Amino acid sequence: MKRSLTASIRANIKMEIKVNFHQALFLIAIVASALASALANAQDSRVHVTINGGPPAPTGEATPIISASSVRVTLIKTAEAPVPEAMLIAGGAWFTTVMLNHIAVLVEHPQHLTERLMFDAGLSASVESERQADLNWLYRQVPMLGYRNLRPARQQLPSELLPKMIALSHAHWDHASGLVDFPAAEVWAATAERQFAESSGPPAVFPSQVRGKTAQWKDIAFTPRTVCGFEQTHDVYGDGSVILVAMPGHTPGSVGMLVTTGSGRKLFFVGDTVWLKRAITDELPKPFISRSADNEPTQVRQQIARLAACVKSDSKIEIIPAHDSSVQDALGYYPRWVN
Ligand SMILES: [Zn+2]
Repeated sequence: MKRSLTASIRANIKMEIKVNFHQALFLIAIVASALASALANAQDSRVHVTINGGPPAPTGEATPIISASSVRVTLIKTAEAPVPEAMLIAGGAWFTTVMLNHIAVLVEHPQHLTERLMFDAGLSASVESERQADLNWLYRQVPMLGYRNLRPARQQLPSELLPKMIALSHAHWDHASGLVDFPAAEVWAATAERQFAESSGPPAVFPSQVRGKTAQWKDIAFTPRTVCGFEQTHDVYGDGSVILVAMPGHTPGSVGMLVTTGSGRKLFFVGDTVWLKRAITDELPKPFISRSADNEPTQVRQQIARLAACVKSDSKIEIIPAHDSSVQDALGYYPRWVN
């Protein structure tokens, strides 16, 4: 009896130390990242004048006219956020700042012009009220839960380019915010992701974005047809040009999208399975400080290995993480299209 009492006291002390350790780690991360972000803001303010108002990026392919056989995509940059590299990838540096993008990807198939597909929705015009509704003050200070230079997709796109469907890579706040701006669009998600969106809460899922809305949710009909090592896939237009792949791990129903464009480029949008492309090249997980962002870290490592093998098996595959601005800058942003 005495022994079990002592053991129970020890266990309680241990638990308390663990909780305090995590709280301390969280606070250290916030302070360090706030310092790093402030430093980055001071350093790159000149650069961003060019990004927002300057000429298009020097790289990427401008293709304003659709040819008969071309599937094309455009990246709509809805916002950005400077984040210390140490929060994004194992072994990253605290004082190296990486610009994260919040994007929506519009896909256009020339034989299905009334069925444009948007992959993720980016940030909406109401993102600030969503953050106020669903995040406490402490969370609102975390760089990865912030944004700047907001330009919602709905404000950039003319009405003739609106999507019929929006497929979510996952239901986290920075991918689902823009849904509210496209009330007529079907919202496609893996069954597990829809259930996750219904049952989860902040800081991952914002109830203000996904619940109580009249969105037409539709479960993606995956079939067991393997594409580049991914076993559950859905061929959107039936010709292999746009394929959604089940990629659970970051969230229970995470989804990737492989697009083969008219010119034969193979763009593999991998959502938040990794935050930086280098995580596939070097097969690195997210850092310990951000590991809780992954629902199943072990499963994420399996998906990283699968993506690394996919790239090795087909050198034309281009990995595009949802937030990696260095990869996305090279493709360019709407109104530039990638053909
Ligand atoms: Zn994200």
